[in-house]
Amino acid sequence: MAKSHLFILLCFLLNSVSSQTTVDEPTMQALKSHLNLTKDVDWSNPNPCKWPTVECSNNRVTRIQLNNKAIRGTLPSNLQTLTELTVLEFFMNQISGPIPDLSGLTRLQTLNLHDNLFDSVPKNLFSGMVSLQEAYLEYNPFSPWEIPESLKEATSLQKLSLTGCNLTGKIPDFFSSQTLPSLTSLQLSQNLLQGELPPSFGASSLQKLYLNGQKLNGSVSLLQNMTSLIELDLQGNAFSGPIPDLSGLEALSLFNVRENQLTGLVPPSLTGLKSLKTVNLTNNCFQGPTPEFGKSVAVDVIAKTNRFCLETPGAPCDPRVDTLLSVAESLGYPVKLATSWKGNDPCDGWLGITCSGSNVTVVNLGRQGLTGTISPSFAKIASLETINLSNNNLTGTIPNELTTLPKLKTLDVSNNDIYGGVPKFGDGVAVVTSGNANINKDGPLSPDGGGGGGSKKSSSVKIIAPVVGGVVVAALCLVGLGVCLYKKRRARPAKVQSPNSHVVVHPHHSGDGDAIKLSVAASSVGGSSNSQTPNSEIHVVESGNLVISIQVLRSVTNNFSEENILGKGGFGTVYRGELHDGTKIAVKRMEPSAVSDKGLEEFKSEITVLTKMRHRHLVALLGYCLDGNEKLLVYEYMPQGTLSQHLFHWKEEERKPLDWTRRLAIALDVARGVEYLHTLAHQSFIHRDLKPSNILLGDDMRAKVSDFGLVRLAPEGKYSIETRVAGTFGYLAPEYAVTGRVTTKVDIFSLGVILMELITGRKALDVTQPEDSVHLVTWFRRVAASKDKDKDAFKNAIDPNINLDEETLASVQIVWDLAGHCCAREPINRPDMGHIVNVLSSLTVQWKPSEADPDDLYGIDYDVPLPQAVKKWQASEGLSQTMDDSGSSSSAYGSRDNTQTSIPIRPSGFAASFTSVDGR
Ligand code: ATP
Ligand code: MG
Repeated sequence: MAKSHLFILLCFLLNSVSSQTTVDEPTMQALKSHLNLTKDVDWSNPNPCKWPTVECSNNRVTRIQLNNKAIRGTLPSNLQTLTELTVLEFFMNQISGPIPDLSGLTRLQTLNLHDNLFDSVPKNLFSGMVSLQEAYLEYNPFSPWEIPESLKEATSLQKLSLTGCNLTGKIPDFFSSQTLPSLTSLQLSQNLLQGELPPSFGASSLQKLYLNGQKLNGSVSLLQNMTSLIELDLQGNAFSGPIPDLSGLEALSLFNVRENQLTGLVPPSLTGLKSLKTVNLTNNCFQGPTPEFGKSVAVDVIAKTNRFCLETPGAPCDPRVDTLLSVAESLGYPVKLATSWKGNDPCDGWLGITCSGSNVTVVNLGRQGLTGTISPSFAKIASLETINLSNNNLTGTIPNELTTLPKLKTLDVSNNDIYGGVPKFGDGVAVVTSGNANINKDGPLSPDGGGGGGSKKSSSVKIIAPVVGGVVVAALCLVGLGVCLYKKRRARPAKVQSPNSHVVVHPHHSGDGDAIKLSVAASSVGGSSNSQTPNSEIHVVESGNLVISIQVLRSVTNNFSEENILGKGGFGTVYRGELHDGTKIAVKRMEPSAVSDKGLEEFKSEITVLTKMRHRHLVALLGYCLDGNEKLLVYEYMPQGTLSQHLFHWKEEERKPLDWTRRLAIALDVARGVEYLHTLAHQSFIHRDLKPSNILLGDDMRAKVSDFGLVRLAPEGKYSIETRVAGTFGYLAPEYAVTGRVTTKVDIFSLGVILMELITGRKALDVTQPEDSVHLVTWFRRVAASKDKDKDAFKNAIDPNINLDEETLASVQIVWDLAGHCCAREPINRPDMGHIVNVLSSLTVQWKPSEADPDDLYGIDYDVPLPQAVKKWQASEGLSQTMDDSGSSSSAYGSRDNTQTSIPIRPSGFAASFTSVDGR
């Protein structure tokens, strides 16, 4: 009896202890009621410390980690009271409203709210967060805001990501290691930041700095002092001036300055950096010799998009070019000169240069807004007769060396800020110095020597001999200015933003309201019920998505006849179809069981999104049909089938094996297509099902990625139906397979597997192999580990159908390393798609820019009916055959400039579930 009483008492005590709740309960209840929790989040226990994804210590809430659960709602304003919080994470949900005031959470170490729908940030965000180590707020549609001053208070901060956060204004100047001593990673890409790099960067301990894709400008000279840097991405800004001496950046691995206005020589301090793995200098105004980097460096330096003297890496320039470039150096390599001073012959129309034969006789750079100093290098151009540098903002002194020019007749430096004495020129030289307030006076730096031997006369104009009128007049005529034009562009489609979504809409024009009509003749019709009147119409509805009737699809596929079957996959069967004008399409008839029974509207909205993703390396989803149980998707037809056919079944299909160049080109196409998905205007789209059967080939053997987004249509939990597992399993990133966590890094992993397949010719899963080699990634890792010791192991692993010469072997080696990198176990250790594009593009044959307007070639023009549009793309792709492998995708090349070929969108609901982030 006594025992049973004791037992009951114990139970009671235990129970009361367990139900003893936390002082944080009211706040947590408020949180619960503000969030629209999904079914799989059970927060019903009265004690919040018992809630899954919540952790307490000493009965206080210390962690809330409610991530990737499709949760909507808002955050309550009193989260601040959770003063013991160390980790607050709600990333990858659809939470909206403001981020509440969190100031004073002194113990908070991690704040991770990325990929939500938050619309504002409190002014005092970070205030008092002295323990904060990591903050990730990227990809939220905040109303424009500036980096808050209160960030200074987060003195423990190590990593900060505010990518795609609508940041405006300047980057504040408090990033020195004195203020933020632990900050090593700063990601501010894809915002609207302006102005120059803050000087404090030069005194920071930053290792990763991502500022790509905005309006930053000015010099990059302070990089010289950022000696801790490992990764630097300044792509797509307006930085100008030369690259400084980078010899102190001994750990620098990534240097991406693509698409800026940088000028000057690419310094040996960059080319010689031992740590360097990836360099991208494309689309700048670099001058001098095309740089030559070490073999192990992945380089994207498209010579033609710069101003190099010759295209061959390392080839020296003409001495006249070298001399004039050192003149430009003293002027800070102005963009104006860089745009015009290209090629290896200064007498070939260079701005301000006049020649007699091949001798430079006149340098006329008056009124060019130049700053800097007068270079003593002028003295090396012995043929010079006239130097006109008047009406600029030059400073410094007139170099003594100029007096040695044997043929000099005129030196005009009037109206600048030159100081010091005027050197003694020979008789017959007209030296014009008027309009320099400090001429014959010591200047700001008290010149030594330079002007020392100068005349002490007070006159600022010293004309020793009559000016040779003709020469001066000629010299004063301005040559037309060159413009650093990278691309010729036509008018772009209008960008229209709807209140709840970021939609870029191509304007339609049509005589029929907003619809565009497309005629499809009923070529042959299977049965009477399927009969279709000729000229039945497919309507492009307002948003550009295409609804196609089942009758039309029956008609064009010959009633889904056997002989029209192109293949079967996890979602159903794909049929070939032909429109009346001969345009081919592929129709995917979805197996009802393979498609989730989501509401029709949701399905439609998801499909609508997919129809808008257009890129030359994505198989276009042209339209869809929903009719009762029938769900069909209509794709652009890819005549050469899948990569798996060419890679694994070439013998059966009596084809030739793919050569290495072709494999590289395909890999690059795929990377570019997926890079586009990952870098859509305000968000990332994740493919989730990259594999060779989803890589389709055109007649030119250029590749496109298909079936992006389809996984989203699969019913929950049904993802692993047998066919899908069979096709997909070997490509799944471990964290995705195990936890379902989806970031862009799952695509990187899959692409890594595809690279391994391209190298080895082996399938991701090959049950014909011995047990320990069935799984390609595992086998690959093993070979990779033994590669250094056993050179043969590496060579033996390469597909014997690849013709291996020395050059190919070196290229395979780089892709091998890249593949291994992509399949790193930890997502964080995998590169992003931009890096992969860089590496692969550096390995393919050099890109030759097309003269044609890329918009004309690859743009989607909604003004023309679909069959014509399809024809146009096909024609343009035919054209690409004439270009070389690496870069026919001139439009895709600048794939971050997505407006070029696409309609980026931010759909509600759908987008958020696709949204993710990478690069940390
Ligand atoms: P998953 O369902 O995971 O995508 P899958 O890619 O093997 O697997 P489907 O996408 O249904 O399956 O494609 C089946 C086959 O149809 C492909 O292997 C290919 O041969 C063919 N196919 C699909 N889309 C097209 C297309 N746009 N043009 C030409 N052939 C296509
Ligand atoms: Mg497929």
